Parts: sequence; structure tokens; C-alpha cells
Amino acid sequence: MDIAALKSKLEGIKTEENEKIVQQKSRDFYWYSPVLKNRLDHVTGDLVVSPKNEAELIKVITACFSLDIPVTPRGTGTGNYGQAMPLSGGVILSLADMNDIREIAPGRVVCGPGVICSDLDKATRAHSNQEMRMHPSTYHTATIGGFIAGGSGGIGSINFGGLRDFGNIIRLRVVTMEQTPRILELTGEDLHKVTHAYGTNGIITEVEMPLAPAYDWQDMIVGFDSFTEAASYANALARQDGILTKLVSVVANPCPQDYFKRHQKFFKDSESVVLVMVAPHSYDALLAFTRRTGGRIAFDASTTDDLKGLPPVFELSWNHTTLRALRVDPAWTYLQVLYPFPNQLALTKQMDEAFSGELISHLEFVRLDGDITCFGLPLLRYTTEERLDEIVEFHNTNGCPVFNPHRFTLEEGGMKQTDAIQLAFKRESDPKGLLNPGKMIAWDDPGYDFESGQVWLFKGLQKSA
Ligand code: FAD
Repeated sequence: MDIAALKSKLEGIKTEENEKIVQQKSRDFYWYSPVLKNRLDHVTGDLVVSPKNEAELIKVITACFSLDIPVTPRGTGTGNYGQAMPLSGGVILSLADMNDIREIAPGRVVCGPGVICSDLDKATRAHSNQEMRMHPSTYHTATIGGFIAGGSGGIGSINFGGLRDFGNIIRLRVVTMEQTPRILELTGEDLHKVTHAYGTNGIITEVEMPLAPAYDWQDMIVGFDSFTEAASYANALARQDGILTKLVSVVANPCPQDYFKRHQKFFKDSESVVLVMVAPHSYDALLAFTRRTGGRIAFDASTTDDLKGLPPVFELSWNHTTLRALRVDPAWTYLQVLYPFPNQLALTKQMDEAFSGELISHLEFVRLDGDITCFGLPLLRYTTEERLDEIVEFHNTNGCPVFNPHRFTLEEGGMKQTDAIQLAFKRESDPKGLLNPGKMIAWDDPGYDFESGQVWLFKGLQKSA
């Protein structure tokens, strides 16, 4: 790989070669998974390149194409499955400096891919009291481009579903990896080509996102004596069409007491909790609804005198729950599960009981195709890879599909099948296969048998030292 030749073609564009920084920028939160930690720990790129605008980016792409140098796009590296890790080395293309907000209008915003989600909301709130429909719990650190290419949904999904649902992205501007890169404007069905494609088939250089009215969401935590009571309450609350919430999450005992260190003083022993963000005009209704169910208001940000040092409740939810557990006890890892409607409560109970002592239930309620159901990001005590696979298999065969967070490929982390739309687009947009190599099995190994029970091995993965 001729990095010196590349550098000579990138005059005037910010690059970074310092070994430590390059290594740091070659990583994300892959270490959440002991399996990925083992496989990817040695991975590092050769050069970080940070274009400021689309013209610079096209110069980088053209140079890399001519020299056959792999390019792995990166927002701020908060993905959990090694999505932003350059498995075959090469350029780490940081989009973080393309962070200008270009237009705010009723119901929509246009910006560069590198804008941090909370900065985007800050600007749209100041402009016209609007905010993103949904954001990841990494609100304060993740970029909007990284969320679209690597994430799926989050805080707000209780009202709007996931990022890949129609209407949750309006338009993406994408640059292809070709001798003469093309600039494409994708809308409607075409958006599926690049959303959650890990940047394997194009670089997003501009996003247009829908906005919702902004509220001063109030943080509440409701306590219950058991996980099943907490899950029933959350399921019923999420179905209260008149109560506007932005987050309804269930975290089973003993996670709150053991791992939500800053909120610990609010919890009773062995309580399971429901995390809620409620709009101010729905606050009284939420209290009335909660009184009927026997839930205990364990924490209410609007009546708590000293909020100093307390994180917002969304930073206890989604993948922040896992982070908090891992910080205290690195033996935890996690799964990503869907409990399909209408059996979500029975399924969550079944899985909670099947792995008692080995798994702590954690549910995120969402609206999918008009129905309320939940995803789960249960904490899992890691022993061996075989046991982990067994637990995944048990979920899958009992009607709870797992989006395996212990795999770095799109297919194995998803529905174990190729996304034909994304593959077809890759053939057009990245004919040499230089974008984020090793993340799309269908590209490298078209005949691969997803039912083989084996973990796919990427031949281009750097050898460990
Ligand atoms: P990166 O990690 O840098 O990149 C993600 C993927 O997108 C990579 O494959 C990268 O190559 C690609 N990419 C980045 N920018 C571009 C671009 N401009 N064009 C093309 N490809 C690009 N995810 C959720 O969906 N919901 C959550 O609530 C959530 N909570 C999390 C909590 C924690 C504590 C952690 C560690 C992760 C969480 N995640 C969540 C995962 C992750 O934070 C999100 O996916 C996040 O939005 C990624 O943004 P990023 O800027 O860090 O992207």
C-alpha cells in the first residue's frame, strides 16, 4: 500500500500519521464483545484523513481509488461491532469536520454528516423549537452520518420506529468510490441502499432529516418489585396514546442498584425499573397512570433538588445500560433481540426465566409498523463463545431474532442474509471493493452458507503481530 504516494496527492487536506492517534481512530466500541475484542484488537489503519468539505473528500476518494487503498469512513467511532474499524488497513476517512448545518425549515434540517446529534438539536431548537425525531443514547458524541450508516434507532423510536422506516430520513447525498466519483441524491426507496450499510457502498456527504416539535422532556424512573411487573407497566404506558413519551425502557434488578451508580440512592433493594422521558404536558397524566399500576416513582427530575452529577436518563438506556454494567464488571456482555408483537411480554418473560442468573433483562419499547413492541439489549454474563452461541440460538429458535452484536459483518449481525439492494448498489458504487472491506460477506464470498454455523473469516483481515 503506497501511503507516501497517497500523501503526495492529498496536499492541503488534513492528515494524521501519528501511530497512537491512528490506532485510536481505528477503533470503536468493538470491545463490548469479548469475541470481537479477541478477533479485532490488532486492527489498525495507516492514515487518518479528515476532509473539510465534499470537494476535498472527492480528492481523497479519487486518490485512494487510483492507488487501490481501502477507505473506511468514520464519524466518531461509537459503533459497537467494529463497523468503523479498517480490517485491511488503509485510510480512515474521518467525516467529523464536515459538520456544518446548512438549512433549517419547518419539519426538516439539512447538514453535513459530521454534525454531533446534540449539536444538531441545539441548532434546530434555537432556530424554531424543533428536534430530531430520534437519536442514539450517544447523543452527545455520535455523528448524524454515523447514526444513519451504523445505527438503527433509539430515544424517540417509541413514537417514530427505526431509522430505516420510511420517512425517518428524507434525503442523503452520497459520493461513490469510482475513478470519477459520482454524486448521488437518494430519496424514498433508494435510501435503503446506504442506511445501515456501514459505509460499504458510498460516503454520505449531506443528510436531510425530518424534525419533530421539541419539548423539555422530563426524566422519571418508576420502580417495581419484579421484572414482569415493570415490563407490563412499560408495555401499557407505551400504548397510552394520550401520554407523550420519548423513552420507555425496562431495566431488571439488580442492574439499577449495581450499575447505575449515580442514581443508586433512589432505588430500593431488588427493584426493577422503568426509565421514562415524558413531555411536560403529559406529566400529570403519567403520574395518574402510574398510581393505578402500583409503580413507585423512584426518581422525578422535576422534584429532585440536587441533580448535579446525575446523567440524563437516556444515558442509562439503549447501549448505555451495557456501558454502565461493563464499567463496574467487565465480565458482562450483551445481546440485541427483537421480541415481536403481539407476544412481546410472554417472550421477554420466557427469556428472563430461561437464563436466570446469567442474563439481566433490558427492554426498549418502540413503535414498529403502528404496533408497540420491544427490543431487548439484555446483559449477559460471558463465559465461553460456545455458551454465547447457544444462548443466541435459543433466542432465535424461540421466536426472538437476535441481531448478533458479536459479529462484524452486515449479514451475521443482521438477519443472516444478504441485503440484495445494498449488494447491487455496491457493485455500481464501489467496483474495486475498497470501501470498508470485510463487512459485507456477499461481496467477498458470494457462495457463503449462512446456515453453516461457522463464523465467517475475512481473508483480508490484517494478521495480528
Ligand atoms: P461510527 O461508529 O464512526 O460509524 C458507524 C458506521 O457508519 C461505520 O461503519 C462507518 O464506516 C459508517 N460511517 C460513518 N460516517 C459515515 C458517512 N458519512 N458515510 C458513510 N458511512 C459512514 N446505536 C443506536 O442506533 N441507538 C442507540 O441508542 C445507541 N446507543 C449507543 C450507546 C453506546 C454507549 C454506544 C457505545 C453505542 C451506541 N449505539 C447506538 C451505536 C452507535 O453509537 C451509533 O450507531 C452511532 O450513531 C454511531 O455514530 P458514530 O458517529 O460514532 O459512527
